[in-house]
Amino acid sequence: MAMDASEARALWRQAQTVCFDVDSTLSPDEGIDVLAAYAGVGEEVAALTRAAMGGAQRFEDAIAARLALIRPTPTMLEACLAAHPPRLTGGARSLVKALQRRGVEVHLVSGGFEPFVMPLARELGLPPEQVHANRFVFAETGVTLDPTSPTSASGGKAVAMQRLLDAGARRPLVMVGDGATDMEARPPADLAVGFGGVVVRPSVQARADWFVLTFAELETALEEDRGLSSPPPRKELTPSARRRTYRSAQQRNVAVVTSRPSNHLQR
Ligand SMILES: [Mg+2]
Repeated sequence: MAMDASEARALWRQAQTVCFDVDSTLSPDEGIDVLAAYAGVGEEVAALTRAAMGGAQRFEDAIAARLALIRPTPTMLEACLAAHPPRLTGGARSLVKALQRRGVEVHLVSGGFEPFVMPLARELGLPPEQVHANRFVFAETGVTLDPTSPTSASGGKAVAMQRLLDAGARRPLVMVGDGATDMEARPPADLAVGFGGVVVRPSVQARADWFVLTFAELETALEEDRGLSSPPPRKELTPSARRRTYRSAQQRNVAVVTSRPSNHLQR
């Protein structure tokens, strides 16, 4: 499991797909806290968050308890976003651009809320297909998270990584984040980078393959191989072209599997 620093840096330079956590990583804020403060229950929700941190509460239960206090509505969300537009952490934009110049596909993988994540994705020039966050389901009985999003439950980041791989994401696949759930994304991710630019969590520091305090560190490290053996620039497939490629690959796989018995019979 353990990986030394030079191995981690080498994997980082070779990365083909990089996933960023959003709350307290790509953004200095925690969307749920911003929303709770806006709804006037900031203290109560913060107390629940503190209580959840030490315990063994499942992610989905912790979120449900907090949503029951916040009672978000579409109108509240809209007003909250207008009053507190989502912010990017310093150096995030530059790092994402540097990755994109290298042909790396960047995804946002967040246990947070899609309405807070989408504006950041737009600002970074990432299409909605590269955003994996939680959608609200508004019902008369209350607000829940769409259970089809992999990050709506404990262990969700690893599930999200596996889905990306199944959909044709190229390795090395890297997860960058501030939380324990981000570190749990490896495996199937090949590298877990801990980010301490907003909050330093000792457990993450201990578990991460590589722990950084700034995005600039990550951007600088990308250039370390310059002049040595830089790989040829890769042609980036658009998400729709990727889906087409994947669909045809899937069809090929299905064809191989279903035709095997008859081939066998013919022999
Ligand atoms: Mg986070």
